[in-house]
Amino acid sequence: MNSLNRIEISRAALIHNFERCRQLSGNGAVMAMVKADAYGHGMIDCARIFIERGAVALGVAEALEGAELRAAGVTVPILVLAGVVPQTLPVILDARLTPVVVDPSILAELSHLAGLRQLTVGLHLKLDAGMGRQGVLPADFLALVRAVQSFPNLQIEGVMAHLPLADDRKSASSDQVLATFAATTAQLAQEVPGKCCLHLANSGGLFYVAGAQFDMVRPGISLYGYYPDGQEGRAAAAPPLLQPVMRFLTQVIQVRQVPAGTGLGYNHLFTTSRPSIIAVLPVGYEDGYLRCLSNKAQVLIGGRRAPVVGRISMNLTMVDVTDSGAVQVGDEAVLLGKQGDQEITADDLAEWMDTISYEVLCLFGKLNQRVLAA
Ligand SMILES: *Cc1c(COP(=O)(O)O)cnc(C)c1O
Repeated sequence: MNSLNRIEISRAALIHNFERCRQLSGNGAVMAMVKADAYGHGMIDCARIFIERGAVALGVAEALEGAELRAAGVTVPILVLAGVVPQTLPVILDARLTPVVVDPSILAELSHLAGLRQLTVGLHLKLDAGMGRQGVLPADFLALVRAVQSFPNLQIEGVMAHLPLADDRKSASSDQVLATFAATTAQLAQEVPGKCCLHLANSGGLFYVAGAQFDMVRPGISLYGYYPDGQEGRAAAAPPLLQPVMRFLTQVIQVRQVPAGTGLGYNHLFTTSRPSIIAVLPVGYEDGYLRCLSNKAQVLIGGRRAPVVGRISMNLTMVDVTDSGAVQVGDEAVLLGKQGDQEITADDLAEWMDTISYEVLCLFGKLNQRVLAA
């Protein structure tokens, strides 16, 4: 038995977006960011599709996610970007994940456990080239490199940094971070024998920062069809445009005719000003359709936009369909995505919720049943 609410994931859109990212990457080396359950789109399904299309690596936040990918048969390198701590090292080693090392304190334990398993561990280093969140500052970078090299069974395979303002096309920050990253990693040529993979670009870096591609790129949000700077980004983007991947669908479970002056739902947050037709949907904040969307959001019914009226409750939402033509129980209602020639995007929802598309996608995707569609 399925829920009346469902998330639909478009395989074709995932492929389209991946190809677009690959095109822009220059050398075609894309590490697909599938952390947070692929931003709510389903980590394993998405990972398989990206690998099929040529992703050279995957990025996750936690070791646990990497282990799940391995258990599903994924063989490409998987970088663990957060939570490389003593407690997660056994999983990282046993699942052959690639730890991103943020300072020297973990190296002795990593080397010790690798030694017990007779492994040489390839790792990436995190440089704080301006993000100000994780990693070592440029001044401490060479010391970190040498610390790794003091352990025979640890090997530097890559160096990364992250861009703090890549979604801001006008900011000078990205060029500065890029220059710091390039200058700091230039020292590696003499220090690290063999190929070292340099990577900096998230979606913003890939789409907006010239020269940020280096050896590999790390798009996340763009794989799922959104620009890091929301609808502004979409409006300014060169075709082919990214295609939103996720739809959030439900259906009408009651249609009510109410007179003017009827208070609707909790707190009577909305009172009808005319005789109205109200459609009731079996969706609410439990499903990520948050209360802050009350009296604000719109949904698509019968190919038209209709406003959410009254307080969104745990499992119920009301929509004013007075101007929507004939609406019946069982009609499809689209909370996110296209219906006919209308579309509600995660950027629209983000605006109503005072957040960014990333959060909307994670929220809806994680709290609802998901189906992978063509
Ligand atoms: C999440 C993440 C990305 C992807 O960012 P998007 O803005 O979604 O493209 C890239 N790099 C790192 C380190 C990340 O944590």
